[in-house]
Amino acid sequence: MLNRLTIADLADRLARREVSSRDAVQACLDQIQRVDGELHAFLHCDADAALAQADAADAARRPHAAPAGRPLLGVPVALKDVIAVRGQPLTCGSRILEHFIAPYDATVAARLKAAGAILLGRLNMDEFAMGSSTENSGFGVTRNPWDTSRVPGGSSGGSAAAVAAHECIAALGSDTGGSVRQPAAFCGVVGLKPTYGCVSRYGLVAFASSLDQIGPITKTVRDAATLMQAISGHDPLDSTSVPRPVPDYAAVLTGDVRGLKLGLPREYAAVGGLDAEVRQAVDAAVKHFQSLGAEVVEVSLPHAEYAGATYYIIAPAEASANLARFDGVRYGLRVEGADPLEMYSRTRGAGFGAEVKRRILLGTYVLSSGYYDAYYLHAQKVRTLIRRDFLQAFEQVDAIVTPTAPTAAFKIGEKTSDPLQMYLADIFTVSCNLAGICGVSLPCGFTANPKLPIGLQLLGKPFNEATLLRLAHAYEQTTPWHREIAPLG
Ligand code: GLN
Repeated sequence: MLNRLTIADLADRLARREVSSRDAVQACLDQIQRVDGELHAFLHCDADAALAQADAADAARRPHAAPAGRPLLGVPVALKDVIAVRGQPLTCGSRILEHFIAPYDATVAARLKAAGAILLGRLNMDEFAMGSSTENSGFGVTRNPWDTSRVPGGSSGGSAAAVAAHECIAALGSDTGGSVRQPAAFCGVVGLKPTYGCVSRYGLVAFASSLDQIGPITKTVRDAATLMQAISGHDPLDSTSVPRPVPDYAAVLTGDVRGLKLGLPREYAAVGGLDAEVRQAVDAAVKHFQSLGAEVVEVSLPHAEYAGATYYIIAPAEASANLARFDGVRYGLRVEGADPLEMYSRTRGAGFGAEVKRRILLGTYVLSSGYYDAYYLHAQKVRTLIRRDFLQAFEQVDAIVTPTAPTAAFKIGEKTSDPLQMYLADIFTVSCNLAGICGVSLPCGFTANPKLPIGLQLLGKPFNEATLLRLAHAYEQTTPWHREIAPLG
């Protein structure tokens, strides 16, 4: 059962030569074979290429064991199908890019390759990362490994499901409004959304460029730290990437959180639709932090209630501009027409799914003359207020605690006919992206019947991922949740 190991445990066993990377990759491939017919987390997996990478990693290890320096050498990870890996498919979950092959490596992919990680395959997602359930994929829904009648969350649902079902050791997702954290919560794994500018977006197909970040989805907090170490840091190919030294993330995992201050936002207590079991689990987690020696105080985020409305103006506005490039000329699908205009509209009409079209219409509307001031400009101003709320709260506290999502995983089909209900699944996650801060989701319990994972969200100061990892690790190491294995794992 090598596929069940964490990065840390696999790296350890690889370093001691107890197992080979080929064995580890084979274990993942076997698991994919066994469960992915039902789960549908993978859109593409090239077994031969993965085994060849594994052999190269095994060969690289042979002459001199260098365990400490290369924790990802020979470790199979998989990427959300929105992150470019040269020569591999890059569909973004969209029919419009069904046959598109990435011409170059994203910076995160290049860094993972340099670290010796094995890129096992491509993971399912909501089309162009728009959604909260993976039901908007052009290639069929991914199922939740805890209950296959339920969604895995989204948009990185394939990534979270694949990690929870032990089809890969770890994965990367992207988070524009919660797409790493919310599926991590629904699948009972760890998901981290780095501060805007912390991880390069080069080679990440853009959804909303001022909000998008790539982040790790892992079985443990330590593994999230390991992936962050590999993928973060300045990249001259992304002008929004910030030149700052990368901290030693593993060094902060001390288990000691004494003296750290956590903030509970007063406004979130009043959020409608918050499930009672989720509320209880989060309350218990807060008490647990207190028992570990952290201090808890109330904070106020007065503009929190506008986060959803603000996000669903800004994200579609940016998407409408970013998705203009998929017009049949350069990328992917082309449906011929009598003239270029007809070709564009036929191509986009046939290639995009309903949610993507809805976002493009929304975005075009809020940017159009006469409505720009009323919607887009207004939303930008509220965005500034939301960021200010957080920065003020962080003058008092080191991190803010909330649920990741208002409920546990919902049923497939439950919200597809009501986009507003679907948008409310992000009510706790979108403000983090609007404010440009960092956030992590980690398992904090289960609902009783059916048994489904519940996620705890910790939000941190810009570029203070280390504090989030330290808090999350201390919590994880003193609670049992992360050790539970999904029925389909
Ligand atoms: N669910 C949100 C949306 O539909 C967030 C998606 C994301 O983070 N990519 O926009």
